Amino acid sequence: MTARFAIVGSGPAGMYAADALLKLYEDCRIDVYERFPSPFGLIRFGVAPDHFKTRNTARQFWRTLELENVGYFGNVEVGRDVSLDELQEHYDAVILAVGAYNDRKLGIPGEDLKGVYGACAFVGWYNSHPDYRGLNPLLDGEGVAVIGIGNVALDVCRVLAKTPAEMVDSDIAAHAAEAIEAADYTGLHMFGRRGPNEAGFTPKELGEIRELERCQVIVDPAQLPGDVPDTFEAREKGVKEKNLKILNELAAQNKPDLPITMNLQFYASPKEILGGDRVEGIRLERTEVVDGRAVATGETFDIPVGAVVTAIGYHTVPPGDLDMNGGQVANENGFVKDNLYVVGWAKRGPTGTIPTNGPDSRDVADVISERVTASGKGGGEAVRALLAERNARIVSFPEWMKVAEAEIARATGGHPRERFPTVEEMLAVLDG
Ligand code: NAP
Repeated sequence: MTARFAIVGSGPAGMYAADALLKLYEDCRIDVYERFPSPFGLIRFGVAPDHFKTRNTARQFWRTLELENVGYFGNVEVGRDVSLDELQEHYDAVILAVGAYNDRKLGIPGEDLKGVYGACAFVGWYNSHPDYRGLNPLLDGEGVAVIGIGNVALDVCRVLAKTPAEMVDSDIAAHAAEAIEAADYTGLHMFGRRGPNEAGFTPKELGEIRELERCQVIVDPAQLPGDVPDTFEAREKGVKEKNLKILNELAAQNKPDLPITMNLQFYASPKEILGGDRVEGIRLERTEVVDGRAVATGETFDIPVGAVVTAIGYHTVPPGDLDMNGGQVANENGFVKDNLYVVGWAKRGPTGTIPTNGPDSRDVADVISERVTASGKGGGEAVRALLAERNARIVSFPEWMKVAEAEIARATGGHPRERFPTVEEMLAVLDG
């Protein structure tokens, strides 16, 4: 008998789970549900548009979706078109791989002013995410503040700093490329509430801001520690040492003729976002790191900016009424309840790179294989019948391939593709 699995979400965690289940079950059928016609979640909407090598990870997942015993239910939103309960009823197991696509809040005054954007929205805007096509961020002030010193904050600053020529190989959304080119900001500010040794960014990503055509990076050497303490475990210490070396190089650079400055400031915690109708500045408080924690000193300073982007992490909103543990779905090694499992950022939080999800999803697949056997449920055919009654427009994987070809065909100006920024435009390729 065939074991039937539904995976909710076609990002890396879901696709690694599909690959693992295919290896563990001799006879199984996997259906991958995705809210948008386009597959691959974070790879499409989260990875920076100039990080094409990372985007190429999608190739292996593309091959999985082409397999005969793997189905793609694109443009089907679980929780809207079909409920989680219905999936659990019709499949032997359901694996939630919905990621963490909701911004954490700073919880400071002024956070709701026009001109404050969470990284989900801002990154989604330049990555053609349909929810953020109309974001039109305010980029007309003299500067943009980015809160956080992780890789997402670096991505945002780098994309805002690069020239059109530096982005030519990228698939940045045309609407974002035009807005960034037309913008007149001269100051990008990245604020970390702790120090260089506590920063979340990694050497490869940090190294990329050393040679930007129109942007000089300012690092205050007085904020750089002399070394990385032994309290970090060996691998992490190595990463931090590389970061520190790059930060020292950046601090020694002197490129005063470039039109944009990127100020990388440590020990500065956001206290208030200033402005009347919109963002006009940001107030920060100096911190000290005590036992690894940022402790406020009471000393504040203001920086004039026209927009603020928070890159301070994400939380999960599940497609059903589930117990949560902080920002994640409550689970035990991926087991949620009944025949429901969870993988990826929805399981462990927004940490790690795309490959980190490989072993994580395989571990959950192992847990599933110990518990789940085929029971003769209706699987995708039963759900397809429900969706037909509800007039849902399912996009199959061969159909998505046609849309993907159309995105390549409509690219201009040397870009590899121009993604459709709305679901309507994607469907128009198929339905006219
Ligand atoms: P991250 O590395 O955890 O960075 C979040 C930053 O926000 C930290 O500096 C954190 O400071 C700060 N923060 C959190 N709450 C704050 C608050 N209330 N006030 C001020 N600052 C606050 O996460 P991320 O940048 O969102 O990235 C998520 C994951 O994706 C990471 O594992 C990252 O490496 C990965 N990623 C990888 C790539 C790549 O490989 N190229 C690209 C993008 C993302 P504290 O540390 O003090 O809390």
